Amino acid sequence: MAWGEGLGELLYPSYCGLCLAPGPPVCGPCCEDLPPLPDPCPTCAMPLPVAGVCPDCIRQPPVLDELHAGWAYAWPLDQLILAYKHGANVRAERILAALAERVAIMAHAGHGQEPPARPDVILPVPLHPSRLRARGFNQSEYLARRVARVLGAALDGHSLRRIRATGSQQALGRQARRRNVQGAFAWTGPRLAGCRVLVVDDVATTGATLSALAGVLRQAGAARVEGLVLARA
Ligand SMILES: [Zn+2]
Ligand SMILES: [Zn+2]
Repeated sequence: MAWGEGLGELLYPSYCGLCLAPGPPVCGPCCEDLPPLPDPCPTCAMPLPVAGVCPDCIRQPPVLDELHAGWAYAWPLDQLILAYKHGANVRAERILAALAERVAIMAHAGHGQEPPARPDVILPVPLHPSRLRARGFNQSEYLARRVARVLGAALDGHSLRRIRATGSQQALGRQARRRNVQGAFAWTGPRLAGCRVLVVDDVATTGATLSALAGVLRQAGAARVEGLVLARA
C-alpha cells in the first residue's frame, strides 16, 4: 500500500460510508441493501426474469465477451454516482471505490470451480479531453485503478482515447446510442495480441459505449474483452 493511502486511512477512519457503523467503507448489511440485479444476462447484464442470455444478445451477439455489473442503477447507488461524478464528493468516492473492488472480486471469483484468468490489462472508459478539463478527473479511471489494485493487474490509463466528443447518451434510444459512439474511440498503445482486457466504467445503460470500445480493442488484437461497471441502468 502506498504511504498516501495509509495516510488516507488515518485521515478518514474506518466506518461505513452509508450507515456510519465502524468497519469497512461499506458494511455487510448496507451492501446487502444495495439494489440487486437479478439474473443478469452474462454479456450485457440486463436483468432477466430467468437466468440466461437476453433476446437482444441472442439476436445480435455483442462484441463484449462478458459484462460484470454489481447492482442496478437505483437508490442509493445512482445518487452516490452522481454526487461523485458531478460533485467530486469524497464520501461517495470512498464508497464507490470499495464497491468497485467488490465487483472485481466477485467477477474474478467466477461461477465455476476454476477462477477465471486474471485480466492482463485494466482500462478505464476514457473521457474526451474537453470533458476531462471541465470535470477535472475521470471517475472511471479512479475506479479502474482500484480494480487493478485488487486484482493485481496492470492499469493503462492513457492508451485508450476518446477521439471524438460525443453528446450525452442520456436522452438517446438504443440505436441512436450506438451511432453516437461510433468511431469515438481509438487505441494508441502497443498491439494487445492475445490479451485479456477489462474495461471499467461507473454505469452501463445499453452497453453501446462498452461495445464500441470492445470493437476497437479487438481490432487492436485483444483476445477477450470484458466490462466491469458498478451499476446497470
Ligand atoms: Zn453500513
Ligand atoms: Zn444481453
